[in-house]
Amino acid sequence: MRIGVDIDGVTSDSYTVWLRELNQYFNKNISILEDYDIHLVYDVSWDEMNDFFKQNMEHLFMLPQPMKGAKQGIESLIAQGHEIIYVTARSADEEEVTLRWMDKYKIPYDNVVFSDFKSKVDLARQWQLELFIEDYMKNAEAISESGIPVLLLNASYNQGEMTKGIKRCRDWMEIVNVLNRI
Ligand SMILES: [Mg+2]
Repeated sequence: MRIGVDIDGVTSDSYTVWLRELNQYFNKNISILEDYDIHLVYDVSWDEMNDFFKQNMEHLFMLPQPMKGAKQGIESLIAQGHEIIYVTARSADEEEVTLRWMDKYKIPYDNVVFSDFKSKVDLARQWQLELFIEDYMKNAEAISESGIPVLLLNASYNQGEMTKGIKRCRDWMEIVNVLNRI
């Protein structure tokens, strides 16, 4: 199967590092992210948050560890013959640091697609993805509405009602188990 895999919050444990760095910069003490739109959580404008990320990109993208079980999970999906296409909201000018991070943790990749905050649905169609692993509920809903089933990696910021076509998985082990049963 051709599987789309998100990076931040799915492959990379980005939010753990980002909360720490953002708390320091914006002088806050937020430990659990309840909203995926971080600028709202920190009560700053989208532009201000975007500037912070642009200025600290190297640091913010290189520091995170992989999500628990992500590397092993991805390796086992590839070993079973699945094809992995990473689809991230990051922009193309973040490609070099993104691939360097993948290399650093020896996460296997052939294709990494950068949406630059645009819809992942078009890319999912273009790449003829048959399933998508995502952590952002809005993306999960849009992708599943387009007819591509989604496995939603559980997180504090994606709680709530699930729509048809989305299955919540508590961790990568469950993702691999679910895929084994398909
Ligand atoms: Mg994500």
